Amino acid sequence: MTAAVERGPGDRPEIALTFDDGPGGATNAVLSALDGAAARGTFFMVGSQVHERPAQARAVTAAGHEAGSHTYEHLDHEAVPAETALEDMLGGAAAIERVLGFEPPLYRAPYGHFVPATSREAAMRGWTCVGWTMLAGDWRAGETGESIAGRVIAALEPGAIVVLHDGRRDKPADHAPMLTALPAILQAAAERGLQPVTVSELLRS
Ligand SMILES: [Zn+2]
Repeated sequence: MTAAVERGPGDRPEIALTFDDGPGGATNAVLSALDGAAARGTFFMVGSQVHERPAQARAVTAAGHEAGSHTYEHLDHEAVPAETALEDMLGGAAAIERVLGFEPPLYRAPYGHFVPATSREAAMRGWTCVGWTMLAGDWRAGETGESIAGRVIAALEPGAIVVLHDGRRDKPADHAPMLTALPAILQAAAERGLQPVTVSELLRS
């Protein structure tokens, strides 16, 4: 069993911005922001969201971004039986395949809870399990564009993998702070010569 990848090699001036739990209320705005900055991102999609918003899921890959899977129901795999976790993981990838036409080779477990059953199955399928170097905290109440941007910008370095959210499942969706932070993050990356690329590009050897 291999552990989740948590950062790129860091030998190139590249970072990966990842967007979890969508497609959702902020997906289109994120696509516009990335497009405006000639940046590419990776979207860890939740299967049930893809089922509800297939056009938005297609818009992500049509714009040249990468799709990863993030389960079907976003269960906490440390809180459910192994078979349930496995079903949740595989159901997410299947829902994405139905809409996008391919099985994503990248997988991120909700809350980063990669359990032995899902890690083993992912490895057997040749998937890469993807963690992060930094959580932006954009889902928390009380965050502002400034607080999110400040935290992310402080952690920008070659090989960084940043988690933001373009959809949200459990809470009222207020994406405004993240959407305020994103242009500032993209600008800071550009000023430091760090190109936002997809996770697969970041990890290539
Ligand atoms: Zn998530």
